[in-house]
Amino acid sequence: MSFGISAKTRKLLKQHNIVLKKSLGQNFLTDAHMLQRIIEAADLSDQSGVIEIGPGLGALTEGLAQRSQKVVAIELDNRLIPVLEQLFIGQSNVEMVHADALKLDFAQLISDKFQSCSEVHVVANLPYYVTSPILVKLLESGLSLSSIVVMIQKEVAERILARPGTKAYGSLSVFAQYFSEPTKVVQVPSHVFVPRPQVDSMVIKLAIRHKPPVPVEDESFFFQVVRASFAKRRKTLLNSLSSSLPFPMEKKRLEELILYIGLDPSSRGEMLSIDSFAQLSNVLLQERE
Ligand code: SAM
Repeated sequence: MSFGISAKTRKLLKQHNIVLKKSLGQNFLTDAHMLQRIIEAADLSDQSGVIEIGPGLGALTEGLAQRSQKVVAIELDNRLIPVLEQLFIGQSNVEMVHADALKLDFAQLISDKFQSCSEVHVVANLPYYVTSPILVKLLESGLSLSSIVVMIQKEVAERILARPGTKAYGSLSVFAQYFSEPTKVVQVPSHVFVPRPQVDSMVIKLAIRHKPPVPVEDESFFFQVVRASFAKRRKTLLNSLSSSLPFPMEKKRLEELILYIGLDPSSRGEMLSIDSFAQLSNVLLQERE
């Protein structure tokens, strides 16, 4: 079974009388080469378990099942579940779960379904409208995942991959790079989807870190400081922090602390590495306590 061509995708949709829903981000990938690139990036073995979010009509699911021990695919659209079950009938290592990935308890899913796997990966062509909340949920919940390979909107991918000192660098970059090591897999033009989306996409791989890259005393405070540093992008670090920190602090004292850890108060938040954000949040935490 192969869905590498758009005619097959169209035929399936017609057969089951399914009109795609834009509101569910239903842009189906129809390029066999791109499907292959995504599957290869996950670097699967017969010990791997895979959680696929949004299988659609199973274009990725088939290849994932061939390369892994087990695939559990989470699909929100109930119209697609019988189609998927029919497509994978007799394939005991593929299981469909009708659920909203935003509400699903992934820790429970992993412990229920992947006991016999030595590692678990998430692989998905994510619906655009939920990309960030799903990635945030997967990354911050401390799940025992090895990697997340996702196709997402190109601009969001660029923000995740961005290095300090670039325009795309922001709190999402720090967040993603704190929990994982993101790398680009391949850029994907919009014409390989049915229907064609308005935007270009990119496949990225987030190799999950099992230990933070920098010592952070209070993770939630660290991210508050990161957000405050980027809150006013045109302002200096000092001004952005002094107007957006989650607790009151005299500007003079804030300046002293920024200088104390060797940073320039007149620089911008986008110049700071994750290491600098960690130092900054650790000294500010002492001040708050
Ligand atoms: N994997 C298929 C492919 O690559 O062609 C389909 C990808 S399509 C971009 C996104 C899929 O996610 C759709 O099948 C859509 O119904 C499903 N979806 C949308 N929101 C979802 C959610 N919150 N939880 C689970 N699946 C969702």
